[in-house]
Amino acid sequence: MSMNSQGRPSTPVATGSQHDTETVSGSKGLYQFEPLIFETDRWGKTGVDLPKAKGTKSRLGGVERTGKAELPGLSEPETVRHYMRLSQRNYAIDLGLFPLGSCTMKHNPRLNEKMARLPGFADIHPMQPQASVQGALELIDELATWLKTLTGMPAVAMSPKAGAHGELCGMLAIRQALISRGEADTRKRVLVPASAHGTNPATAAQCGFIVDEIGADKRGRVDMDDLRAKLEKTDDVAGIMLTNPNTCGLFETDIKEIADLIHEAGGYFYCDGANFNAIVGRVRPGDLGIDAMHINLHKTFSTPHGGGGPGSGPTVLSEALAPFAPVPFILKDEDGFRLVEEAEEEAKESFGRMASFHGQMGMFVRALSYMLSHGADGLKQVAEDAVLNANYIQAKLKTVMTPAFDGFCMHEALFSDKFTAEGIETIDIAKALIDEGYHPMTMYFPLVVHGAMLIEPTETESKAELDRFCGALESVARRAAQDDDTLKGAPYLAPMKRLDETHAARKPVLKWAPPAPEQLAAE
Ligand SMILES: *Cc1c(COP(=O)(O)O)cnc(C)c1O
Repeated sequence: MSMNSQGRPSTPVATGSQHDTETVSGSKGLYQFEPLIFETDRWGKTGVDLPKAKGTKSRLGGVERTGKAELPGLSEPETVRHYMRLSQRNYAIDLGLFPLGSCTMKHNPRLNEKMARLPGFADIHPMQPQASVQGALELIDELATWLKTLTGMPAVAMSPKAGAHGELCGMLAIRQALISRGEADTRKRVLVPASAHGTNPATAAQCGFIVDEIGADKRGRVDMDDLRAKLEKTDDVAGIMLTNPNTCGLFETDIKEIADLIHEAGGYFYCDGANFNAIVGRVRPGDLGIDAMHINLHKTFSTPHGGGGPGSGPTVLSEALAPFAPVPFILKDEDGFRLVEEAEEEAKESFGRMASFHGQMGMFVRALSYMLSHGADGLKQVAEDAVLNANYIQAKLKTVMTPAFDGFCMHEALFSDKFTAEGIETIDIAKALIDEGYHPMTMYFPLVVHGAMLIEPTETESKAELDRFCGALESVARRAAQDDDTLKGAPYLAPMKRLDETHAARKPVLKWAPPAPEQLAAE
């Protein structure tokens, strides 16, 4: 295996399998070998000719760089190829079904992109006078109205920039509400179910709360006895953070009772709304007694995910929490729309600011395009089709894999590793799925299920594609059940094989260093 100067494998790694044919170039068919950009060429090369700057006085006040910037030197075609080749290594929703559970990897409609590129939205700047961006402010306000209507909540904070950021917003609002009640020092405990997404306990801890875990019952839902016990004779509970539908893909059937118990105990109800896609247009979280919930526009409302674009996590708030919402927010009066920027006068109870500006404008345009093109009835059908597709997968695979819980699921199907032969693990199944051309499902999450495999197809997959995916997974699952040890070497067809994930997580190499002179001399 050839290693680069950092000790990372820099060419495809041989595994000795019959699938693995080494090539001289390192490329294989349409897969182009590509080293790190720093390894591509020598220093000093450049893709542009700039005349030497003449007579311009430095305005850096003596803090100019004196050493080399150590940027790689590449021509334009080399640069283009480098990034093009890297882009080909990615799996993407535009390439195929992306079964990551809890992530709602749905198609990003092209109409959204067209709207976001309209110059009136794409070319404006947050520092522009507000009178010159009335249309943009109106769009944010209209999106806010949709979000409030769909959730049945009176207020929404638009500035959070991801789901986790929305959680932070909701929990800071709860903390501010407790401060105003004079109970911030006594109410320190936040209840979080064992099946929660890792961001929930992290957010609570970040806000200075103590995380107290509630168990799951045999049906994969909140253990109500455990919850009641945790609320008995205490006045130190700040609230609960609960996902609904939960990360087992199940609706929390006791949710109204949970809300009542929390409110009776003097706490607030934070709902992680990442899975809103399963219930949008069918259930209004406000009717369930929820006080705060973030909405991932990049999940439910089809804006791009991860590398495709920034996230956006508007957070709806109940009557009780609305006064504590962050600035800025939009108000409309006789002069038009305006942003309330300071936590005073009209926002004197606000907990402050979460972001420099009003939020992710490009994502707002995309999300509203999605809502308007679906309409209220179309959004309801989104939820219904998402749930139907997940149940189709669960029904099709339940004879070869083990569903984690009995009964129908919501938007995602959860399996345990019970069906696998001894020695075959979830990771082997995930890696074999890569050879079949699919991104693996969410693995080992939620933690309450052994060797969990969480599959969320979303509503945008056709029956034909679901069948193709199920066919691939079924064949891998049969091999796993029969102790086919070739699974242990998968993936055979990917450019990189089994990586040392523990090492990568514990000792990440985040910075490139030039090779030592003796290494250069040897080349
Ligand atoms: C995706 C997700 C989050 C976090 O959202 P980000 O936008 O990635 O920060 C939180 N909770 C659940 C259940 C999720 O699925």
